[in-house]
Amino acid sequence: MRHIAIIGSGPAGYYTAEAAQKALGGTAKVDVFDSLPVPYGLIRTGVAPDHQSIKGVSRRYEKVALTDNVRFVGNINVGSDVTVAELQELYDAVVFATGAPRDRPLDIPGAQLGNVFGSAAFVGWYNGHPDFAALNPDLSGKTAVVIGMGNVALDCARILAKSREEFAGSDIVGHALEALTGSHIERIVLLGRRGPHQIMMTPKELGELGHLVRAAPHVAAGDLPDEAEDALLEPGLRKSVTALRQFAATPEHIRAEKSIAIEFEFFSQPHSLEGDGHVREITIERTHLVRGRAEGTGEIERLPADLVISCIGYRTAPIPGIPFDEREGRFANSEGRILPGLYCVGWARRGPSGTIGTNRPDGYAIVELIEADAASGALGSSAKQGRAGFDALAKTRGLDVVTFRDWKKIEEAEEKAARDGAPREKFVDVAAMIKAGR
Ligand SMILES: Cc1cc2nc3c(=O)[nH]c(=O)nc-3n(C[C@H](O)[C@H](O)[C@H](O)COP(=O)(O)OP(=O)(O)OC[C@H]3O[C@@H](n4cnc5c(N)ncnc54)[C@H](O)[C@@H]3O)c2cc1C
Repeated sequence: MRHIAIIGSGPAGYYTAEAAQKALGGTAKVDVFDSLPVPYGLIRTGVAPDHQSIKGVSRRYEKVALTDNVRFVGNINVGSDVTVAELQELYDAVVFATGAPRDRPLDIPGAQLGNVFGSAAFVGWYNGHPDFAALNPDLSGKTAVVIGMGNVALDCARILAKSREEFAGSDIVGHALEALTGSHIERIVLLGRRGPHQIMMTPKELGELGHLVRAAPHVAAGDLPDEAEDALLEPGLRKSVTALRQFAATPEHIRAEKSIAIEFEFFSQPHSLEGDGHVREITIERTHLVRGRAEGTGEIERLPADLVISCIGYRTAPIPGIPFDEREGRFANSEGRILPGLYCVGWARRGPSGTIGTNRPDGYAIVELIEADAASGALGSSAKQGRAGFDALAKTRGLDVVTFRDWKKIEEAEEKAARDGAPREKFVDVAAMIKAGR
């Protein structure tokens, strides 16, 4: 019997469990740990609440979770409740699927001012991550600045721009819906160091900005490169740039019908934030491209900024004793192997890029690697105790494990509490989750 511990129940974790099931069937027992009492990682706490069809992928993970040899071990933080060394004693292979939950810091003067947030925090707030439920962003100002030109920046801008009615059918948490309903924001500036040809926004998500009830995207035609140059772009990016061209071509009188402007501010890098404890202004430096890289021109401008959200990437949280690549912000690994017996997948392996589906081949490849290491004898030969050993440890330590059955009760309670038309009202507090599961 092969005992596998997977740390993290997001896409990478469940694709790895699925691959282990398919490759090893009844000869492997897989425990999927998560520090939260609820599974699915960023499917629950990252993917936008108004993109429910994407969240539907969790049904696939549920099928895996319900197979005989896979179990969910929720509410266990690996690193504090149990150490990696302890898991290595008990399991043949330990796989980190812990994602990249920390914001890459915005390293400019003033970044510590009030109402300046990283996207992990802001997204976690509207998606009900217990760590960020109390964030309480101040939405009483007029201008929000969203730093970054990727899909996460788009999510943040769209969520800030939508009317209450446009959240129908979403699972945005109640506290965020109430706060956004009372929001005074009428200008959302998307700030990017480079130009339209360098955005990381996918066409479907970008196109959504053109169909908002009370907000319109603004792109300055002068920022767009010559149209003939679009032919050199990869097809997805070309479509996104076409969307930007359409936004730029929208007549002013049509844009003026909308009360919220979403402005694309290209060729601008944040220089500093200023305020009186609370952010009030952002200083930006204009840039130009030199061989595809943004270089500052020295030209400085000021913009009002009552709320700042930086969407500039994420880092994996290091775990003491586990080799870590500081520069890349993820575990040091070679194709997913940290050391024989210790592996990583998903964002913890590659860093924060790609779609949900990109994590699938990672999971399958790591199971092959585990098998190869087992066949070469690199995993050692002594029989490990696996889940029986973990259960004994959890009992002595008084750990409050949340099982998949408990999660199903939490899910049922969330579905019962849903607003009209919404799929669920999430618990945003760990104690409330655990109570609902019992
Ligand atoms: C805001 C946002 C929106 C996105 N929207 C989309 C989208 O619309 N479409 C799309 O295809 N992709 C989207 N993505 C990308 C997608 O979410 C990721 O590709 C995917 O979630 C990465 O999977 P993962 O399993 O590596 O990490 P995660 O999903 O982050 O899962 C990591 C899990 O590990 C757990 N964990 C972490 N540390 C520990 C520990 N020490 N002990 C125990 N458990 C731990 C966490 O609680 C979490 O459950 C989005 C990402 C973000 C940030």
